[in-house]
Amino acid sequence: MANDKTSANAWDSVGLDSADSVNAKDSAEFVNLANLDSANSTNRNGVDYVNIKDSADSVADLAESAIKNSPDSAPDLILKNPLDMHIHLREGEVLEAVLPFSARYFSSALAMPNLKTPLLNTNLVMSYKAQIEGVLKTQNLDSFKPTLSLYVSENLDKNELLEAQKNGIRILKLYPKGATTGSESGVSEILNQKIMDIFEMAEEMGFILSIHGESNGFCMEREFEFGAVFAELARTFPRMKIIMEHLSDRRSIPLLERCPNLFATLTLHHISMSLDDVLGAGLNPHFFCKPMLKTPQDRDALLELALNAHPKVSFGSDSAPHLESAKLAQNGSAGIFSAPILIPRLCEIFEANGKLENLQKFISDNAIKIYDLAVVGDSVDFKDSVAFADSGDFKDLSNLGKSRQDSAISSKDSTNFSDYAKIPAKTIKLIKGNFKNLDSIKTRFGHIIPLLAGANLSWKIQEK
Ligand SMILES: [Zn+2]
Repeated sequence: MANDKTSANAWDSVGLDSADSVNAKDSAEFVNLANLDSANSTNRNGVDYVNIKDSADSVADLAESAIKNSPDSAPDLILKNPLDMHIHLREGEVLEAVLPFSARYFSSALAMPNLKTPLLNTNLVMSYKAQIEGVLKTQNLDSFKPTLSLYVSENLDKNELLEAQKNGIRILKLYPKGATTGSESGVSEILNQKIMDIFEMAEEMGFILSIHGESNGFCMEREFEFGAVFAELARTFPRMKIIMEHLSDRRSIPLLERCPNLFATLTLHHISMSLDDVLGAGLNPHFFCKPMLKTPQDRDALLELALNAHPKVSFGSDSAPHLESAKLAQNGSAGIFSAPILIPRLCEIFEANGKLENLQKFISDNAIKIYDLAVVGDSVDFKDSVAFADSGDFKDLSNLGKSRQDSAISSKDSTNFSDYAKIPAKTIKLIKGNFKNLDSIKTRFGHIIPLLAGANLSWKIQEK
């Protein structure tokens, strides 16, 4: 299991010679990392960290925090409108069990359409949306709005795209046939004329195209081999934003940086773990996922993108619950259920690397720009905590799709935005303190084991 120590040490060893993944500006910042003392009570932005004992937490929280932390080391942290741009919420009872982990703390999450019955048309997408909303209502989970995507198949046509657009669906999800769970209805030959015609219409209509980018070659080379398809699509449809989902291979990074209309999502597991975690000691099927975890060098290059909140990447957990029995079976299922620990664990990783101030961009601001989202409503203000504001510098998106420079708007200005682009404002507060992760989630069909099951984390979300 990668922990902060291994992440930080591996990070040190990356140095600056991974030239294919580091641009000069970020490198310069990275050099300074070694000198940063995350335990210091002031940060280098000149923001005063607020001592935890000054904030108005409950007595129990304070006592717990005081045990874990020296007085100077524990600023609270505010995150606004967290977004998870890639998640598997499943259906039925599993949906009911896993949705709260996202809905409580995130403003929105992009739900994947590879269900048992894949969401191949607008009707299916809308009934899935209703199913999710039903669970939100039953469990009193307000201030969360699911974002939905339509599964790309060769049968998509203009009418279906119009129908999707009318219903506020803005994201198409492409699975190469056979690439992962639920991809049997996917596309076997992506660059064929039929699919290219669909993408031409989609570009015209302003859709965003999210792609699980893997070939059917050797498992460690699949993403790299798929790069040629990304390059061709990006070149052919220059006005369509194309998302390279769950980046796993550092060799994809130059392509991401070269093509203006390519973007990427990063998972928690790909930035914090490597193939060693799956195979290096005993075989650990809980860490088996697609795309496969790769080398420590891949992990560290991706971690660097996240820590620097590279403007072309946003957070997408790819949290993918499977029953324990399916994970442990022969031909076990691919997918890591990370939803219960996402935000505390990201805090730990960003803090350990002295980059806590970039977490707001990585977990929200970048996605708001990349996916053209609009935050509406008022969110809670916590006093005496550190919040890191968005710099607003995002020039390279100005000519793409329906990108908007000024995407965070107040509710009274929101009438110009169609309903689909809005996400509810949400503010969460992280405090230092011991957070014990669940060992498992029970469902009627069996257990689901989360990432870092039973582990103690050093940040927790303050419950309201
Ligand atoms: Zn996925």
